[in-house]
Amino acid sequence: MALVDILHMNSGSGDSSYTNNSLFTKIVMQKTAPFLKRTIKGMANKDILSDHCFMIADLGCSSGMNTLSLASNIIDIVHEVCQENNRKTPQFQVCLNDLFGNDFNNVFKLLPNFYKTLRKCKGEQIGPCFVSVVPGSFYGRLFPDESLHLIHSSYSVHWLSQVPEGLENNKQNIYIAKTSPLDVLQAYGKQFQTDFTKFLQLRYEEIVHDGRMVIVFQSRSSLDPTNDECSTLWELLIMSLLEMLKEGLVLESDINSFNLPFYFPHGDELRRIIEEDGSFSLDDIDIFEVDWDQHDMECNNRGKKTTKSIRAVTELLFSSHFGNSIIDMLFKKFEKKLADHLATKKTRHLCVVISLIKK
Ligand code: SAH
Repeated sequence: MALVDILHMNSGSGDSSYTNNSLFTKIVMQKTAPFLKRTIKGMANKDILSDHCFMIADLGCSSGMNTLSLASNIIDIVHEVCQENNRKTPQFQVCLNDLFGNDFNNVFKLLPNFYKTLRKCKGEQIGPCFVSVVPGSFYGRLFPDESLHLIHSSYSVHWLSQVPEGLENNKQNIYIAKTSPLDVLQAYGKQFQTDFTKFLQLRYEEIVHDGRMVIVFQSRSSLDPTNDECSTLWELLIMSLLEMLKEGLVLESDINSFNLPFYFPHGDELRRIIEEDGSFSLDDIDIFEVDWDQHDMECNNRGKKTTKSIRAVTELLFSSHFGNSIIDMLFKKFEKKLADHLATKKTRHLCVVISLIKK
């Protein structure tokens, strides 16, 4: 089955759900809020704020509260910009996109409270706001021609459309690792370039003239994709799998044929792809760090929460390849290794946020 048909974050609102384990991406969104404000303020003197309905899309919205907090934040900023410029605040349509398997029902359950809070805090000044769902892959068309004013995507576009081809030599690894041969690094880079170029071309069709697109990626500070910042987490996972191989719990052939379908681009790589494609110009870029285990700090059992968030995001990929039976053991081993690692090393993810304008 194609990746886009099976991929989704853990559903529901239980202990291992994405909803309950998305604090990291929430922190990322909070950190990008000033950037988003700057971007929307940059639209202030453009006619598009006079349109009667401001169309927002959040691509790769997942199933938690993050996407609705984002929507609320965007509405606040647009309202503020309109007030500063003596314009009437437009109506809003918020289109939430994710893959078909995403637990949209979980978002629907949060909607009554979202609408209520919006009405309570903003009264008649804002709205109405209409939330709709657009399921499908962002590597295909999702919206009519020139219909969106602001496209947003956080921590989603580093997911590839497929596992790159040509990874046969990535033996005993599950992602780019220090021991990965050069052609594996190149295959990942090439897949990202192909996917991101396609993404830009599709969004070019969908966004209005003067519209903006804000995208947040997990990134890296080094041009070398095998540096610790990108590979450590996944190397701890492969160590756990190799331990299970020794214990006869997984097959070597299963490990050798498994690779994770994401890629964390360097800022320069993004600039180059955007320039080569030519559909958008880069309006603004910012780079910032987030500690992996920020939410583990006050926890006695270090690594526990980070393990849960990695599990909420990757469990399905592991279970569909190795079977359900290995999952508890895999993440138990991973948690132990992660706790040992966190005891001695400070760990962070580098993030990059870009704002693009249609050319
Ligand atoms: N933006 C959310 C979710 C990030 S998790 C937040 O910040 O909390 C990444 C999300 O991207 C997942 O829900 C995943 O299903 C989605 N995703 C990955 N590939 C996708 C694709 N090709 N099309 C649409 N959504 C995709």
